[in-house]
Amino acid sequence: NVIINKQDLFPANTSFLAKEHKLFIGGKWVESKAGKSIPVEDPATQEVVTHVPAGEKEDIDAAVKAARKAFEEGAWPNLTSLERSKMIWRLGDLLEKHADELAQLEVIDTGKPLAFAQTVDIPFATSMFHYMSGWPTRLCGEQIPVTTPGDWHVYSTREPVGVAGAIIPWNFPLNMLSWKVAPALAAGCTVVLKPAEQTPLTALRFAELAQEAGFPDGVINIVTGYGETAGAALAEHEDVDKIAFTGSTEVGKMIARAATGNLKRVSLELGGKSPAIVLPDADLQMAIEGTANAIFFNQGQVCTAASRLYAHKDIYDQVVEGVAKIADSLTLGHGLDPNVNHGPLISQSHRERVASYVEIGREEGADVVTGGKTVGNQGHFMAPTVLARTSPDMRVVREEIFGPVVCVQAFDDDDLDKIAKIANDTEYGLAASVWTQNLSKAHLLARKIKAGTVSINVHNFADATAPFGGYKKSGWGREMGREVMDAYTETKTIAAML
Ligand code: NAD
Repeated sequence: NVIINKQDLFPANTSFLAKEHKLFIGGKWVESKAGKSIPVEDPATQEVVTHVPAGEKEDIDAAVKAARKAFEEGAWPNLTSLERSKMIWRLGDLLEKHADELAQLEVIDTGKPLAFAQTVDIPFATSMFHYMSGWPTRLCGEQIPVTTPGDWHVYSTREPVGVAGAIIPWNFPLNMLSWKVAPALAAGCTVVLKPAEQTPLTALRFAELAQEAGFPDGVINIVTGYGETAGAALAEHEDVDKIAFTGSTEVGKMIARAATGNLKRVSLELGGKSPAIVLPDADLQMAIEGTANAIFFNQGQVCTAASRLYAHKDIYDQVVEGVAKIADSLTLGHGLDPNVNHGPLISQSHRERVASYVEIGREEGADVVTGGKTVGNQGHFMAPTVLARTSPDMRVVREEIFGPVVCVQAFDDDDLDKIAKIANDTEYGLAASVWTQNLSKAHLLARKIKAGTVSINVHNFADATAPFGGYKKSGWGREMGREVMDAYTETKTIAAML
């Protein structure tokens, strides 16, 4: 297991880790009022790499006040649409310019392999700012041909909802930040963001880049802190107009409840138990590689992870064997080691949770084809795991594990309605994939599956331009694409009797 050598880091990251971190409120770096801090751990070595402030309610209050001031006094919404657009684009450019440093920071914070941070996390975040920068100049209402008799001029306008709060998880820190902050800014909102306590680093570095891009004071505020304190204070704050949350379904429900105080707008991206369905005519090589990647990518800590794998009985043995072979071929270690393609889980408690699910699966009668154990004494490593001969009622099939554990089941139906019923046998509905060479069947099945994203011959599809979100307990609302603008705007009807 490679212990990171600080000399090997980019000088910008070495000095970033060495500095005394503060909260970013109203365009200034300030200490948390209570003066408490959170240790930031490298999950591959368990070394504490730095500390960040544990912001609490008073700090959230100060950040909301700054965001409110910037919103009401026009520092942000009163810029022209083109000025806002250019500033958001500039922030995207700065992320691009510092991509390698940001990717390295993300690896230290999350444990993910560097190549993934370089090809997924940072480019995706960049694309969010670049894509969303197009919206300020395009957001408009419409002229409405009313049915009421008389001469009327009736039209709608789109206004920013106001101060937007954002609470994000640890699996894709900068990327999740971009999913919230970029559309909020594009709509003309000001923002208070609380990153996950496990992974605050790129959010703080992002605040430095926002300063460099020239954002007016108070438009972007970053408060690091724990969920029960800083997160809860943001969710229930009476002067926050909208809250966007990504994380567990359990906390999502708490956010929804907390939001009822002032009935702030709520969008929730929550858990999943997404199916991948391999039909007998699939390109097997492609399906095996694709479905293995769909569960093992980011150590399975992906809300859309294909944790339920259904293979037609004719090809079931080949699929199980193929996915297990890929699981065995993955190289575990520190994400900065270029040979590594499977990092640690985020924390000790999370690894215990994932490992306990494997035990539950064993007790329920699942066949542990490969993996099923923790690895090493240092770092939160867990072997990629294939559970075969699972059945619909097992807890491992019904509950989100959020780790590198796939539950494989065989099906023997060719009827698309019956296959869809299997796929839909879950409380969740975030994503699904269908693997077949028959495109007509693929699209028909896609229509029948209750999930926010259905991919064909690929899994985990997400793009700045395409709406993303969940059915059922996977959440409320959609992020990205045109749809996300609805989440950050109010529509006003203006009616004039002429
Ligand atoms: P979590 O819900 O505990 O934490 C997510 C965020 O919420 C963190 O910033 C945390 O500090 C904050 N939080 C915790 N308690 C809070 C409270 N009482 N009030 C306000 N904020 C609070 O989730 P986690 O354990 O960090 O992440 C794993 C879970 O997140 C998984 O179950 C996974 O399904 C889900 N997730 C979903 C998506 C998605 O897009 N749908 C993406 C990533 C993770």
